[in-house]
Amino acid sequence: MAGLLSITEPTAKSTDEFFASTIPTLGQSPTNTTPTISSREQIAQLFDLPLMDLLLQAQLIHRESFVANEVQISTLLSIKTGNCPEDCGYCSQSGHHRDKTKLQAEKRIDVDKVVAAAKRAKATGSSRFCMGAAWKHPSAKDMPYVVELIKEVKDLGLETCMTLGMLNPDQATQLADAGLDYYNHNLDTSRRYYEQVVSTRSYDDRLDTLSNVRNSGINVCSGNIVGMGESRDDRIDWVHELLKMPKAPESIPVNLLVPIAGTPIGDKVLAEGELSVLEWIRTIAVTRICCPSSYVRLSAGRESLSDAEQSLAFMAGANSFFYGDKLLTTGNASQSGDDRLMRELGLTKQFATPRAPKALPVLDAMSGHESQVMLAD
Ligand code: SF4
Repeated sequence: MAGLLSITEPTAKSTDEFFASTIPTLGQSPTNTTPTISSREQIAQLFDLPLMDLLLQAQLIHRESFVANEVQISTLLSIKTGNCPEDCGYCSQSGHHRDKTKLQAEKRIDVDKVVAAAKRAKATGSSRFCMGAAWKHPSAKDMPYVVELIKEVKDLGLETCMTLGMLNPDQATQLADAGLDYYNHNLDTSRRYYEQVVSTRSYDDRLDTLSNVRNSGINVCSGNIVGMGESRDDRIDWVHELLKMPKAPESIPVNLLVPIAGTPIGDKVLAEGELSVLEWIRTIAVTRICCPSSYVRLSAGRESLSDAEQSLAFMAGANSFFYGDKLLTTGNASQSGDDRLMRELGLTKQFATPRAPKALPVLDAMSGHESQVMLAD
């Protein structure tokens, strides 16, 4: 344990020693592929640091990879709501909890309505448009629909993100060829706690989809939900899972559970009490230090937070959040409130940089047939 932080008696000196021994590259540019923190023990020690030391180091590391005081803003739209066959214990959209949550299921939204929502998102300053569907996985008949959405939204100059459930390698390739920028598939929690959350698919199913997304060339978005009744050990293990991947996700949403009455986890948390917001902020800071080049996103749970709590989350290295009054089916902080808070904190918006599709459609002038031309990476 020489050189490592004493967990029982943290002092400024011992904290400095911890960082000197674990982050020798402080002051140089960290890279996403070679995180300096790699062991579970190191992650656990970060969680145990005095909060101000942790926040300071997270902010310093954040500034080595990103422009200070700049945030990326996304807008999220549910393109198919409710009656999901999965049984995620926190989710109002699960068909398994429908009798209690009374959530009204809706059919797929028409392409023109999605495009209209994307235009509004761009007009209000979002750089990325995220589309979510309550599916176990997209069906064969859904694929042309989602490919069309990607192309239409990209034509607006927005980055695109989708969360559609599990993907096989062929589906991931189809989305990559259409130019999808990010695919979201959250691990939610540790492998150990996962079985308390979902029973209709396994942790390895999740990792397989993330692997398919990574191999297709789409940027990976994968995060967690803090405050589901998991322990700090589970939060440590979740961070460790990110570091065990060949490359950390480019985007990491750190959600704070919004307990929804009628869902098994929501009911449990409402009865037993919610986790301290400071533990969520601590999780953000540890994520920032361990994944220095990833966007760390404030997602669900912001609606109930004070300006001061959100400010601490930005200090902890968060540099992305969702605009809009709604996140799929749960409420979100108001946009006017976000604009005011950004002004007060001196935060500016990052511009969109959508990637080109891998395959470009080419129209044959003689036959009128459309074919695809593959672009080099
Ligand atoms: S979190 Fe997603 S996969 Fe799970 S029930 Fe909700 S919509 Fe379905």
